[in-house]
Amino acid sequence: MNQVDYLRISLVDRCNFRCQYCMPEGADLTYALQQNLLTQDELIRLLQSVFIPVGFTRFRLTGGEPLIRPGVVEIVRAIAQLPETQDLSMTTNAFLLADMAQGLYDAGLRRINISLDSLQPEVFDAIIGHHGRSRWQQVWDGIQEAYRVGFNPLKLNVVVIPGVNDQEVLDLAALSIDREWHVRFIEFMPIGNDYLFSDRGWVSSEDLRQRIRDRWGLTDGQVRGNGPADVFKIPGAKGTLGFISQMSECFCDRCNRMRLSADGWLRPCLLNETGQLDLRTALRSGVPLHELRQQVRDLLELKPQINYKERDSGTTGTYSRTMSQIGG
Ligand code: SAM
Ligand code: SF4
Repeated sequence: MNQVDYLRISLVDRCNFRCQYCMPEGADLTYALQQNLLTQDELIRLLQSVFIPVGFTRFRLTGGEPLIRPGVVEIVRAIAQLPETQDLSMTTNAFLLADMAQGLYDAGLRRINISLDSLQPEVFDAIIGHHGRSRWQQVWDGIQEAYRVGFNPLKLNVVVIPGVNDQEVLDLAALSIDREWHVRFIEFMPIGNDYLFSDRGWVSSEDLRQRIRDRWGLTDGQVRGNGPADVFKIPGAKGTLGFISQMSECFCDRCNRMRLSADGWLRPCLLNETGQLDLRTALRSGVPLHELRQQVRDLLELKPQINYKERDSGTTGTYSRTMSQIGG
């Protein structure tokens, strides 16, 4: 079992997109009340006095869409300035990134993952559930600006859905050839999207790799790295291709993370909520910080037995909470 030192922090459960696979029309989206979101001060206090002392040193900001969180640049700065922070990154849809990339970089953010499911504006808009003037160009501008500002590595996340964007897999993979961009294909998961998942199904990483091998060949980069992705390369490419295969292969044994939701729930696993802790209520009701540290330590001890092999649904079942609510 890996050392658990990586915390995914959701800054907000809302989003400016409605991706079909994440927040589909008709999904039961109950948002946390504004007053129940952890404030910046509460978040920093939890990091300094609870998470860092028990061994967390690597943090990723996510959501919902983290860039819609008021004060996000200040939150980045505060976390980047903690002396124990070894790594700080963000996952974003990049819609607001063109104007914010420089500020985020100056505040201390160095690594960024951007969701980009299509290079075709009309397909992109259909995926993100947007009607009206296309949003694709603004996202693309955000990606270019992040690259110009110097984010490295710059990773692009693609969720592949059969019949929606799987015909673009080679075009998306090709983005890794000329630039040091890391394109990561994520197997589509049945999380809060029953209709789409049962209608479309999912494509396995091995299927995608075969298509890429047939076109260019594929050399191994670093396989089974310190994260969920298996990393490969198109021969001669500047960037890499990552495959996150949580459907076809269980990587619970290399899981090194926990998740903190925007309203302060600490969850040990994406799909299994055993042992989850309500840190916001505990903090606000004055539970001493040393007790919170102990509760988190106890959860860390328990974590090896908590995995999504024993989650409440199989790979053909669905899970009702959406990724944006879990803090994906
Ligand atoms: N809004 C940001 C974004 O889209 O990058 C951050 C939050 S989003 C929930 C984090 C990641 O979860 C994204 O890369 C997204 O593609 C992924 N995701 C959401 N729903 C998913 C699903 N059903 N299956 C696989 N990945 C999913
Ligand atoms: Fe929003 Fe990200 Fe979910 Fe898309 S994947 S709806 S951008 S939180």
